[in-house]
Amino acid sequence: MVIGIIGGGASGMAAALAAAENKDAQVVLFERQARVGRKLQATGNGRCNLSNQNISLSHYHGQAAAFAQNALQHFPVEKTLQWFRQLGLFTVAEDTGRVYPYSDQANSVVDVLRFGLQKENITLKCGFEVTRLRRSGDGFAVENGEETVFCDRVVVACGGLAGTKLGGTMAGYKLLRSFGHRCTKLRPALVQLKSSWNGCVSLKGVRANCQVQILQDGVLHAQSRGELQFAEYGLSGPVIFEVSRDVCQGGNWSAKLNFLPDETEESLRNELSARATKALPAEELLTGMLHNRLGKVLLQSAGIRGQRMCDSLTEAELREICRMIQGLEVSLTETLGMDSAQVTAGGIVTAEFDPETMESRLVPGLFACGEVLDIDGDCGGYNLQWAWSSGRLAGESAGKL
Ligand SMILES: Cc1cc2nc3c(=O)[nH]c(=O)nc-3n(C[C@H](O)[C@H](O)[C@H](O)COP(=O)(O)OP(=O)(O)OC[C@H]3O[C@@H](n4cnc5c(N)ncnc54)[C@H](O)[C@@H]3O)c2cc1C
Repeated sequence: MVIGIIGGGASGMAAALAAAENKDAQVVLFERQARVGRKLQATGNGRCNLSNQNISLSHYHGQAAAFAQNALQHFPVEKTLQWFRQLGLFTVAEDTGRVYPYSDQANSVVDVLRFGLQKENITLKCGFEVTRLRRSGDGFAVENGEETVFCDRVVVACGGLAGTKLGGTMAGYKLLRSFGHRCTKLRPALVQLKSSWNGCVSLKGVRANCQVQILQDGVLHAQSRGELQFAEYGLSGPVIFEVSRDVCQGGNWSAKLNFLPDETEESLRNELSARATKALPAEELLTGMLHNRLGKVLLQSAGIRGQRMCDSLTEAELREICRMIQGLEVSLTETLGMDSAQVTAGGIVTAEFDPETMESRLVPGLFACGEVLDIDGDCGGYNLQWAWSSGRLAGESAGKL
């Protein structure tokens, strides 16, 4: 039995290794790029946040996110980490639950998977871009325009559209749609946000611990707390990824930023009132409290000129400075788009697949896994865990049949 796996990313490599556990199966892994795991190598800022100890369905999204439950239970975090250990990878969990390779290098994850694929019953076909997949007898013809490979079963593991430069493509959606599968609207998720607030330009590169509230037409859409990073175009950093899903899809959007979330309004007012008694230039009012550049921009936003003296500030001006520190609202115009997004929200309709096997309900022998399906996870290792779990389940099922 020949099992074709289309896509040598996270879920495709997991599927290939699982399918090859059946010694009677011949596995062919097709990867359009020169090598496998290209996107994986760039994950987690080169550290690869490969899983999370706090996996639960609440961290997954899609039209029917409950579809993910079966795969996540079948191949949960403990089994995933044992599997990686067998492949030779040491891992470590941070206090937050995020799991990384002990080496802190995404390369290590790619390498152990690559070495794992060196098996007698696995053929790796890199540089093979599948352009057409069609029925051939009871099986499938996998074509790249020059060569056709016949497979009894096929797993589509082409990933999503996000991260275009790293291999994100429409290919998986197109291949599955050619068999009648439907696709929901694709949107960038875990993505940076553009802002028209001119403070972003002067704050480029500044990082701040921040409570972020995303508002749509003034109504709370999402909130989180963590590291914010200013960029020339707007807002980035882990906390922004966490709240970016579905942002700027119709309506007026803004981000309300609290740069001192642990201070009460009253304690901050008292602190500023005490500082305002000093004979210092107003531009030093926030020194030692916030990043210098951030403090200066917030004072400007409150309408305070730096040459003023602290002891000349009025109660109303101090209140306005507090408001800028704990409730600066900046407008959001759009996301940075699919090229920069880490994950695609939306995808192939999961109701058309059996969650017990990942097999298509429309085309027997056709399987799908990973990001191509309409499942996306929160920031923190949830997307890779979905890729491992769904890939393993699809590969095992394809190998068993
Ligand atoms: C910059 C960045 C950082 C990220 N960091 C994290 C992180 O730290 N933790 C986390 O959980 N998630 C992270 N993600 C998300 C995660 O990488 C993806 O969700 C995950 O890789 C999806 O796995 P996949 O197998 O479905 O797709 P992919 O890993 O994208 O693999 C798909 C593969 O299929 C190949 N392919 C596509 N079409 C064809 C075709 N027609 N023929 C042959 N081959 C084809 C592609 O070249 C690719 O190698 C990050 C994403 C990005 C872009």
